[in-house]
Amino acid sequence: MVDTARRLPNTSVMATRNTDTARAQLIQISKVLSLEARKGYGDSAASQGIARFVRERVARLGAGVGSDDRRLLQRLDGLFAGYAVMSEGERRRSIDDASRIVEDLLAATPSSSRSVLSPGQAASTPVATVRQPPTRERPLRRRVARSQVKSLADSVRLLPGVGEGRAAQLELLGVRTVGDLTRLYPRRHDDYSNIQPIASVLFGRATTIQGIVQSIETHRTATGKQVVSAIIADETGRINVMWFNPFVARQLAAGARVSLAGRVEQMRGTLCLKSPEWELLDDETLHTGRLIPVYPLVKNLYQKSIRPLARAALDATRGMHEEFLPPDLLLDEGLIGIADAIEWIHFPDGATPRAARQNLDAARRRLAFEEFLALQLGLLQRKHAWQSQPGTAFAIDIDALRRFGESLPFTLTRAQRRSLSQVMRDMAHEQPMTRLLQGDVGSGKTVIAAAAALIAIRAGQQVAVMAPTEILAEQHHRTIRALFDAMPEDLQPRIGFLSGSVSGQQRDVVYLGLREGTIDLVIGTHALIQEPVAFNKLGLAIVDEQHRFGVEQRARLRARGQGVDVLVMTATPIPRTLALTLHGDLDVSTIDELPPGRQPIETRWLPERQRGEGYAFIREQVALGRQAFIIFPLVEESEAVDARAAVDEHERLSRDVFPDLRVGLLHGRMRTAQKDEVMLQFRDREIDILVSTSVVEVGIDVPNATVMMIDGADRFGLSQLHQFRGRVGRGAERSYCLLVAGDVSSDGRSRLQAMIDSQDGFRLAQIDLELRGPGDFIGTRQSGLPELQLASFADVRDLERARRVAEQILAEDPELATVAHTLLRRRMESFWASATLDVS
Ligand code: ADP
Ligand code: MG
Repeated sequence: MVDTARRLPNTSVMATRNTDTARAQLIQISKVLSLEARKGYGDSAASQGIARFVRERVARLGAGVGSDDRRLLQRLDGLFAGYAVMSEGERRRSIDDASRIVEDLLAATPSSSRSVLSPGQAASTPVATVRQPPTRERPLRRRVARSQVKSLADSVRLLPGVGEGRAAQLELLGVRTVGDLTRLYPRRHDDYSNIQPIASVLFGRATTIQGIVQSIETHRTATGKQVVSAIIADETGRINVMWFNPFVARQLAAGARVSLAGRVEQMRGTLCLKSPEWELLDDETLHTGRLIPVYPLVKNLYQKSIRPLARAALDATRGMHEEFLPPDLLLDEGLIGIADAIEWIHFPDGATPRAARQNLDAARRRLAFEEFLALQLGLLQRKHAWQSQPGTAFAIDIDALRRFGESLPFTLTRAQRRSLSQVMRDMAHEQPMTRLLQGDVGSGKTVIAAAAALIAIRAGQQVAVMAPTEILAEQHHRTIRALFDAMPEDLQPRIGFLSGSVSGQQRDVVYLGLREGTIDLVIGTHALIQEPVAFNKLGLAIVDEQHRFGVEQRARLRARGQGVDVLVMTATPIPRTLALTLHGDLDVSTIDELPPGRQPIETRWLPERQRGEGYAFIREQVALGRQAFIIFPLVEESEAVDARAAVDEHERLSRDVFPDLRVGLLHGRMRTAQKDEVMLQFRDREIDILVSTSVVEVGIDVPNATVMMIDGADRFGLSQLHQFRGRVGRGAERSYCLLVAGDVSSDGRSRLQAMIDSQDGFRLAQIDLELRGPGDFIGTRQSGLPELQLASFADVRDLERARRVAEQILAEDPELATVAHTLLRRRMESFWASATLDVS
């Protein structure tokens, strides 16, 4: 209920003070603005037109204000130039912008207190008034905590109100020390900085009102629920408020000064607030009247309890956060200092709501930069640590390489030659190679790997090639053997194979060969380096990573092979900026060109009702002796649910649709051996159609498969769709990709169209990145990288800058051992401590 007509008895105090006169003017403007909005922007809210009304008020306000406010007032006035001839949309924008300016001015013009519009007024406290906005000076209550907390490393238990139970809850959030609590960043902020006079609140808007409880009572509804209803009043009017929590009535009494924040609703034709956040107005507001932090929570911990704790932690640690970014970096990049950043990431404030929002953004950016920097420092340190070990400078047998090239049934593409020369340069160098070879499926990475192996072998060293699964290891074994087959006998490497399925005498032979150096090249699963395998002289490790491993896994590999050259291969193309991050510990070579003469995979989009036509097409292809994949739509993020749904779908397809064909099933809940078994059956043509969840991604070659049907294609990301499609088109036959999708969102439509238009993995990855944003593009969790809390891979400029800064810092101080870098090193270590160390 908004009652503008009835004034409260004590509000006469307003007129006696300058600031209150200014407030009154502003409130009037605000009222006229909202009236204009309510009346549908017909320029009917003021009798002489709104432009003239605003101009008059601005003129009255303008006398004696500071230059900042004068500028705001001028902008306010300017918004209405030509209002009479504006379209409705333009008018709405003018009114919105104007409302925001008035809000800002109001917030900076608290009644009868220190004011921007009229500086130097002595503060007094009228009964029903709006209190001043938060300022950076904190009231008394919190000094108490300070005396006990001596350092950031002190336990949260030292904060008032934190007992065993609270501490245990906080620990679940990773918070043990007071410093941790100051680094527990809010998930977001709710904007209740819009402190409105009750008379001018607008339906549907997030608003804070401040006033006095006129009455408060609890009653029961017809259904027996307890409702607390209160009437709150300020100098402009009154509003009904209700809570469905009887507890509130015990804490609030008539006469209390309160601040309430919520979205304005309507009930029986009058405006009201339902279950707003509330707090007493005797202190800086934490829950209303500002940008309100919203924290991650655990059971029995509520926003209402954690906000004061965060506040207490910040106050107790005031002055303890020391700057550790170089001052010239802060200056160059326009980053704010650590103390303000930590304060504002929780409780951003400023002279106006807009300034507060800017301060929050500045805090986020500074802390995000920190994350980028910590990330890059860690990655580069890993790289440097690797490269500072003495490695082998391979003498390159050019003659052997040439003969290898001549023995191939094709000539290398330009991109292959470029990548090979980068690999050769690394290998010739004494620093151990640490290079990533990325290229789309079928771009010809294996040949480059084989050439690198040949270099090492000709220089008298051994080579290990590792794949993430047994079946892929076997595939590499076959492919690489075939590549060396046409070489002159005396140049052919002696090749061994080792995996979990190799046992007994066979395995002993390989062990012995590796130990004695009679095997030059061993291919296997990555168990190769985990088992107690002894090499005579391991010089090069080639890891086919697909997209299974990450930074930490590579670190383990390195820990085992001191000074060994490492070449990592991946078929997941990622845009350059992301490569910097995900593979920031590697140098990157890119094969961005397919060998000539590849047939494009014909890609079509089938609406769901034409799924039957897709099945018919598969049937035709099978009749021609080919095979097909059917990818089952993603049901949800849970493998278990997906697996069960896929089992049902497999059943349906083999019973109702393809009863006469051999239909296989692959899903993530199957054991590795089972999966391999099914893949082998498919490869050996014992299965015509393979129904699979997304686990099929992993790169197995089945050249006879010519159809990839992806059901629910709109639910997969572009990169993943591209990976699926790469499973076909590997033989001589023309291949097809059928994208089945029903009601497609516009984003989904863009993805499917991109699939039809392009077969270039890098291009598709870039589009994917743009469409989905980097957060979804690749989960950092999979990569083994620490979780970024504030930084986003979309901030490419800051990411690259952080990379350069990290390089500079490490060039001077590779270990971050100097006193100047102690704090930076600590920050980096605590950031990396959150990295997942999951080695399967
Ligand atoms: P990737 O490992 O990148 O998926 P492969 O190395 O398995 O690709 O190569 C895919 C196929 O292309 C293989 O049959 C390989 O022999 C062939 N190939 C590789 N390079 C060339 C080339 N320059 N010209 C023609 N065919 C090539
Ligand atoms: Mg390959």
